Amino acid sequence: MSSHTKHGRWSEPGVPHKGWRCVDFIDLGRPSETCGMCEGQEIRYVHVMEHADYPERIRAGCVCAENMEADTVAAPGAAKDRERRAKSLEARRRRWVERVWRVSRRGNPFLNVDHFNVTLFRKQNAWSGLIEDRKSGQKIFAKRRYVDQNSAKLAAFDAVAILKDRRENSDS
Ligand SMILES: [Zn+2]
Repeated sequence: MSSHTKHGRWSEPGVPHKGWRCVDFIDLGRPSETCGMCEGQEIRYVHVMEHADYPERIRAGCVCAENMEADTVAAPGAAKDRERRAKSLEARRRRWVERVWRVSRRGNPFLNVDHFNVTLFRKQNAWSGLIEDRKSGQKIFAKRRYVDQNSAKLAAFDAVAILKDRRENSDS
């Protein structure tokens, strides 16, 4: 038993120690919450855990989540994997924003990537965007407006990720 699994709800009667399932995973952006299981660890990544024999969900940190997941279908190290994936996604999003975006003759930032042409443009007092799939010719306009260029870039990153997934699935 690590020091984690002696504190907080780990020692509370009626709280199952094993067999929890992770039903959601949230990146708070910075450590700003206390692990709901050991009630000691300050956490940034929240593993939302659920158990059939417990009435409420517990928002746990990585170490506790890992222990709580024992004896379930979750692969060993699943909690750490979730955090690794979240960190790598964050790094990719950061690189995407920091990339050198070219500027069109109309003054709009654009990026050509994986056969997608991503263009951002101002609309009223906000930013919007257009993604063109240069393989299919499909054009997708952003449905939302963004307060600044970086938010629009991040939204474009997420949209391109979804479109790439779709393209890969339809190719196979
Ligand atoms: Zn904990």
